[in-house]
Amino acid sequence: GRYSKEDIFRMVEEDDVEFIRLQFTDIFGVLKNVAITSSQLAKALDNKCMFDGSSVEGFVRIEESDMYLYPDYDTFEIFPWRPQQGKVARLICDVYTPDGKPFMGDSRNVLKKVIKEAADMGYLFEVGPECEFFLFHTDDNGQPTTLSHERAGYFDLGPTDLGENVRRDMVLTLEDMGFEIEASHHEVAPAQHEIDFKYDEALITADNIMTFKLTVKTIAKRHGLYATFMPKPKYGINGSGMHVNMSLATMAGKNIFADDSDKLGLSEDAYHFIAGILEHAKGMAAVTNPLVNSYKRLVPGYEAPVYIAWSATNRSPLIRIPASRGNGTRVELRNPDPSANPYLVLALCLAAGLDGIKRKLKVPASVDCNIFEMTDEERAASGIATLPENLYEAVQCMKNDKFVCDVLGDHIVEKYTEAKLKEWEDYRTRVSQWEIDEYLAKF
Ligand code: GLU
Ligand code: MG
Ligand code: MG
Repeated sequence: GRYSKEDIFRMVEEDDVEFIRLQFTDIFGVLKNVAITSSQLAKALDNKCMFDGSSVEGFVRIEESDMYLYPDYDTFEIFPWRPQQGKVARLICDVYTPDGKPFMGDSRNVLKKVIKEAADMGYLFEVGPECEFFLFHTDDNGQPTTLSHERAGYFDLGPTDLGENVRRDMVLTLEDMGFEIEASHHEVAPAQHEIDFKYDEALITADNIMTFKLTVKTIAKRHGLYATFMPKPKYGINGSGMHVNMSLATMAGKNIFADDSDKLGLSEDAYHFIAGILEHAKGMAAVTNPLVNSYKRLVPGYEAPVYIAWSATNRSPLIRIPASRGNGTRVELRNPDPSANPYLVLALCLAAGLDGIKRKLKVPASVDCNIFEMTDEERAASGIATLPENLYEAVQCMKNDKFVCDVLGDHIVEKYTEAKLKEWEDYRTRVSQWEIDEYLAKF
């Protein structure tokens, strides 16, 4: 590990840390925390901090509600945006049951379980995400709107790009928290932005995604704006994706997806990995694209995938192989969106890829033309399936994919599908503005 218990005590002492936030993520990907003062630190580091699990959505029933937080010492970080006297630090925690077992409703534990399986096979899973988001104005009551005066597009500069100062502040703050930022830029849609941080081992990356979203929202607020990771906030323009760039390495750090002797520079295992993801893409969709709104992004015309295929040259399929080779060889999955629970997304991606490797699944032929320009017949002839079209279909696909259900475990599958079907039902029975506009005067 990076830090020992003594290191934590020393940093808290030397840096004048007054509060420590003990954080975890609920199954729907929402970050939660409880603050303790440094006087309680010893207790927390000994895994003795308890909370009421029945109050966290998707956790436990009232009769078995005591849960314990086991801090991961390596995640100690100081929040640069809080007061610098009596500082605030955080520790990301695993959730344990009172009898000392990892709680399987805690998605971080699920990811750790799959990472362990990979390690037993001799692999490290390395992941770099690309999180996109919108910056919108708030109204007079401080509530987020979908309004922006901004009209910039992909890679635009100021003064058209009104977000450059906010992004600068976000990048500097993230760097203060130990992130290595590789790029930041204006995205295709007005008011849309992207900040990319360096890939890392999957658990660190999942933690980083949670920290990233918190930081981006916090800094946006400081600039009087609201940062949203909602997948498709506006009809008619691009939505926000969270492309996931993945590779497997040996324990010594050698990328096993690279093979110079192959036509595309990819190894056998890379092809099997891709095949595994393609095979389970439908079953994973309720996790990679968890909201009713997620499916409004996955439509033709906005650089988001719709069809289950892969390519080394084209961006329209679900999986793309970016150009870099050697140790940078990787597979880019393009359907996940930033509203997803990153622990569950990475757990499923890794498990599905490993399943492909174990079963030596054969990858279908790559599709190197624009799939959106193919007819339905051409797609059918090429065996190209479609991602679920809505949350209801995605939940059915999850239930039908036994492998996906096994990875997630009974607890999460039960709570997750129950909540998502309720969400769908709630949406389905509403009368939308579109229906009023379209039908009210006509009939
Ligand atoms: N915003 C697009 C999406 O919804 C992705 C654009 C890009 O390729 O960066 O996935
Ligand atoms: Mg992008
Ligand atoms: Mg990308």
